[in-house]
Amino acid sequence: MMEGIVPLWINGRETPTRSTRFGEITNPATGKVIRKVPLGTSEDVNAAVGAATAAFQEWRATPPVRRARILTRFRELMEAHRSDLTRLISEEHGKTLPDAAGSVQRGIEVIEFASGVPHLLKGEHAEDVGRGIDCHSMLQPLGVCAGITPFNFPAMVPLWMFPVAIACGNAFVLKPSEKIPSTSMRMAELFKDAGLPDGVFNVVHGDKEVVDALLTHPEVHAISFVGSTPVARYIYQTGAAHGKRVQALGGAKNHAVVMADADLDFAADQVIGAAYGSAGERCMAISAVVAVGDAGDALVERIRDKAAKLVVGPGDRHGVEMGPLISRAHRDKVKGYVDQGERDGARLVLDGRGLRITGHEDGFFLGPTLFDHVRPEMSIYRDEIFGPVLVVVRAASLDEAIALVNSNAYGNGTAIFTRSGHAARRFQNEIEVGMVGVNIPIPVPMAFFSFGGWKNSLFGDLHVHGMEGVYFYTRTKVITSRWPADEAAPRGVTTVMPTHG
Ligand code: NAD
Repeated sequence: MMEGIVPLWINGRETPTRSTRFGEITNPATGKVIRKVPLGTSEDVNAAVGAATAAFQEWRATPPVRRARILTRFRELMEAHRSDLTRLISEEHGKTLPDAAGSVQRGIEVIEFASGVPHLLKGEHAEDVGRGIDCHSMLQPLGVCAGITPFNFPAMVPLWMFPVAIACGNAFVLKPSEKIPSTSMRMAELFKDAGLPDGVFNVVHGDKEVVDALLTHPEVHAISFVGSTPVARYIYQTGAAHGKRVQALGGAKNHAVVMADADLDFAADQVIGAAYGSAGERCMAISAVVAVGDAGDALVERIRDKAAKLVVGPGDRHGVEMGPLISRAHRDKVKGYVDQGERDGARLVLDGRGLRITGHEDGFFLGPTLFDHVRPEMSIYRDEIFGPVLVVVRAASLDEAIALVNSNAYGNGTAIFTRSGHAARRFQNEIEVGMVGVNIPIPVPMAFFSFGGWKNSLFGDLHVHGMEGVYFYTRTKVITSRWPADEAAPRGVTTVMPTHG
């Protein structure tokens, strides 16, 4: 499966595409093409949605406790195969093996959460909402749900979606990133091995053609999307126009506000990990630091000295701390931002453009890059660069820092570094961002909380996983009932709006 052409996964088995279009999968550390992926068609989507629709009726009738047992076995298999999944991710994405392992772990935790589904699906019940009248609610599945995912977390992001959807009794069609298709296939095999009935989980590879077919398919009832903001907006608008429930998570520009009272060594270490880990290709990467008051010079010095020592190289080499970017085109785009930042007059403190990795000259590497004295109107501040480029903006006060973060178009994650409980409390109260860290640089919530941003980082109402994920993948039904003894049943027609109290 992992050599040659990656197949689709439809109705519990590897399935060839009907497409004549193919994309190339490149190992970013070597620049070499390692396999091909079909760019599927609407016919492929019809086949997958057809299989999912057929499987749905039996799956929704399967008691949640039985579904949960399959999820538990899936979790065990994911744990048992953690190292091959990790290798596959590193090979196609470029991230280091320990980093890839961490992302697999965060995905496994969502399966763990979804394994509690009998409890999660419990509705509410109230006795005697009126005389002899009870009321209860149920959470029922939607039918076929679809997920469209980005390149940067090929296990974790799909796992934010399909275990929860499937645990809730839905069937699922996943369209993973065409840049990194193999991890999804491995997860599909493992889910089948765990006992998942055929057709409940399907994978269709492709690009816009497959996405559009899913967005408009009458049998797809919900769309979960994670990717860049322009595509997220399009997915939200198109899905909603076709009557679907949509959650579309977009891009980010995440700020770390560093107060002058913070432990600056600690803050520098934390910011470096969050800025350059995974080569900055994380939606929760810190890409902007707001240095408040006197923090600036001492902080920039520390970040520069430590970031310059990061070991960059192929992700599967022991001791490497940062791998390559996803593609040559993306690496060149990130370099272009660095060029532009220089032209705009920001101070380039650390320049990663000259980096060469011996033996990997064709890999898509770029070293850690740091700009200081960046101004909000510069493109290196405004745009999501999605690479190892950190920009430092100076602010005179916490008020100014909060105003800056709140005026940004994105609102995914943010962090404050401080020793002041008062500053931290104000920050978490006033900041217009979905996920906030206090002395925590990457505040990705655990699976039993929900993950999602604000503003241009999320289109839709509900975040992924946690209870919001359960609500996204279910419809609520409320039942009001009475069982009067015949002699006690009210008699006579009434045309008055019923009141029970
Ligand atoms: P992308 O938007 O290019 O692609 C995401 C998905 O959309 C892929 O499956 C792709 O095939 C599909 N797609 C691309 N262009 C499309 C189009 N015109 N019409 C329909 N579908 C299309 O994103 P990417 O480059 O794979 O991932 C990086 C982006 O994802 C970054 O912006 C990052 O911030 C974001 N991201 C966000 C989160 C989050 O939780 N908010 C998490 C991870 C990544």
